[in-house]
Amino acid sequence: MKIVMLGAPGAGKGTQAKQIADTYGIPHISTGDIFRANIKNGTELGRKAKEYMDKGLLVPDELTCDLVVDRISQPDAEKGYVLDGFPRTIPQAEALTNALEARHEKIDYAIDIEVPDENIIRRMSGRRACLTCGATFHTEFAPPKVEGVCDVCGDKLVLREDDKPETVANRLSVYHEQTQPLIDYYTGKGVLVEVDGTLDIDVVFEKIREILGA
Ligand code: ADP
Ligand code: AMP
Repeated sequence: MKIVMLGAPGAGKGTQAKQIADTYGIPHISTGDIFRANIKNGTELGRKAKEYMDKGLLVPDELTCDLVVDRISQPDAEKGYVLDGFPRTIPQAEALTNALEARHEKIDYAIDIEVPDENIIRRMSGRRACLTCGATFHTEFAPPKVEGVCDVCGDKLVLREDDKPETVANRLSVYHEQTQPLIDYYTGKGVLVEVDGTLDIDVVFEKIREILGA
């Protein structure tokens, strides 16, 4: 099963993608997590990506597309995967479609998680991320067992630099300009499904399960 998660920053893509990956036994591939791991490890890619991420801008397609095409070619992605945060532009979606078509494959579902802009700032300012294992919590809606500590790996939780309100506003306008057109793109391919992302985390996942079946 090959799935693309769509939705504004903070809509809940990562939260749901992790549950989908666990339930269906497929890898969760988050380009944001890949970039953050590169930043943490001080790689050249991380250094370049950080310049854009800190400003709430998209990392250029040239640095992003090959990385994803390479990742979905790994053996653990043979049965499928859930892509979180990719594609984010029409050229990225086309690069993905072309790479898949070359192998006679296609995306099965593009799941659009709908959350109005008014809710996003509250979502982002309360998000706490573990930069070691990629787990995500929320101070109000999904608190960790111990404040400031990751339930999964025990490392410290942080407010991401790009989750500060001034950067979130930029990210939202980038989303509307560059990423929202993907809703029409995947509607045209007949694979778009929409889910109300304002519901509780578990309820959103139930809806996704109904769509994916089993
Ligand atoms: P995205 O991957 O789309 O940027 P996340 O999955 O990281 O978004 O979710 C953003 C924040 O909102 C996180 O702190 C997460 O715990 C919280 N969150 C996710 N889904 C919901 C929901 N349905 N209701 C309330 N909070 C949510
Ligand atoms: P995310 O973790 O998905 O919220 O992504 C955090 C940041 O990483 C984004 O605001 C972008 O700067 C960058 N990023 C992640 N995925 C992509 C992508 N597919 N294309 C361009 N930039 C990306």
